[in-house]
This record gives sequence, C-alpha cells and structure tokens, in this order.
Amino acid sequence: MKIRHRIVFNRKTISIEFVNFLEEKKAKFSNDDSDLIVAYLFEEENWKNDLYQFLQKEGITSIIECIYSKAEIEKATWFSIRSKFRWEYPQPKDYFSYRHITYDSTSYCDSCGYGLKQKEEFRINKSPKWGKRNFLMLNWVHDELFINNKVRSIMDKGDIKGYKLHSVLNVKTNKPIDDINQIYIEEVLQPGLINKEQSIKEVLTCRKCGTVKYIYTGRGFTYKKDVFEGLNTDIVKSAEMFGDGLMCSSIIFISRNLYNLLTSNSLDKDLVFEPITIV
Ligand SMILES: [Zn+2]
Repeated sequence: MKIRHRIVFNRKTISIEFVNFLEEKKAKFSNDDSDLIVAYLFEEENWKNDLYQFLQKEGITSIIECIYSKAEIEKATWFSIRSKFRWEYPQPKDYFSYRHITYDSTSYCDSCGYGLKQKEEFRINKSPKWGKRNFLMLNWVHDELFINNKVRSIMDKGDIKGYKLHSVLNVKTNKPIDDINQIYIEEVLQPGLINKEQSIKEVLTCRKCGTVKYIYTGRGFTYKKDVFEGLNTDIVKSAEMFGDGLMCSSIIFISRNLYNLLTSNSLDKDLVFEPITIV
C-alpha cells in the first residue's frame, strides 16, 4: 500500500521552496491554465515529516488516498466500499424532516448525530440518471448504498447474504421510484478496529451522550481477525462511527465473494474499495 497525497495550491501564493520540494520528490502536477495546481505525491517514510512541516507552514491540507497493489487486492478477504457517485438528498430535506420520517429518532442525539434507526423507506424527488454507474449514495447519508435494477438482479442470483432490498419512494406520491433500490444491511460487525494510530486522526467524544466518533486518516483500516470469523454475511456495517459535526456513519464492508461479483460484472464504476488488513 502506498499513500498518495493530493495537494491543491495556488501558484501565486506558494513558496518556491515547497515547489522545489515537490519537484524533487517527483510529484505529478496538473497543468491546466488556472492558478490552482493539483500535485499528486507518493509519500515516503524518510521525508514524510518534512512534507507535513511544509504543509503546515503553507497552510495547506492534503487529501490522502491509499493506493493498493494488485497483490494486496487479490489477497484481501474484506473490503470497505463507498460510492463516489452522490445523488440528491434524502427527502423531506427541509428542517431535516427525513431524520424523523425515514428514521426512528427516539434515541437521536442532536449534538453528535448518533442514534438514528431506519424505520421506513428513503424518499427522494426523482429517478437517478445512472449513466454507466450502478451504485450511488445520497448526499448526507454516508452509510447506505443504493443500486439500480441491474445490480439487484445480479445480486439476487449471486448467493449474496446479509441484506434486504428496500424500495425508494417518491416523496410526493409515496410510491416506489423506478430503478432504484436500497441495499438494507442487516448486521453490524462487532467492534474490532485496531492500530488506531494508522486509521484515526481524531477521536471525538460527545459531551451530551458520550458516543465516540472517529475522523479517518485515509490510511486504511486494520481489524481483529475474530470479528470477521464465522460471519454468515457478505455485507456488514462497522460498529465504529465516523464523522464530525452531526455526521455519524458506519463503514460498509463487503466480502471477497461480493467484491468478485461486482467487479467481474463490471458494476464497480465510481465505487471505491479498500482492502481491510485483518490480523
Ligand atoms: Zn451525542
């Protein structure tokens, strides 16, 4: 696994020392005509601290992405999954009413966002424009996957365990919307996140309800082996919660079995998978 930084800076305000550093470390630069430059840089252990010092001095944050080798992907038994394709918002969106319609909000904490339990179908305004994509996530909802009917039929035939399919309703008519389904994930994994110095940038403890949430580093997840052992499911949510403010979401994990089904049927456009290190 390699760590790639995505660093966005303004060519007019950046110091020449930092540009030299980036060039010396063989960063790749985007070269359109605007003043904003994007540099991609693979991190190395021996100058990692210098990079962080530069970023701090320049007041720039980098976005970290893990790039896995083919061998690492082939060896993995579980993956995290998310969709880069975001569509619409859960409805009714005004006053966040969906929090009380789609979810049972009896135990909801309005300080950290913890405690929503889904009780009804999600509602949206209109059918997705899928294009070549087959999966989406709604804005604001970071731990639910929605699929078109093509994925639905392939998953139905594929001996995939651990989910139910829910319709998604038109918020005006309360009738199911064509060609979109929610993968309702039935199980939550036992807590098992370890090597937190690798995965966790910040631990947030809610002063009101005591819930602990994490901010992810982008450097991959390591889990204890025994929480995955004996699972009879192909899709499961983490017990650990992530996000700042009112964002409070699980990570979704899928098995090798489901990963193979999705990739071999080319259903993975705009999906991001990360192999989970299991020890
Ligand atoms: Zn709370």
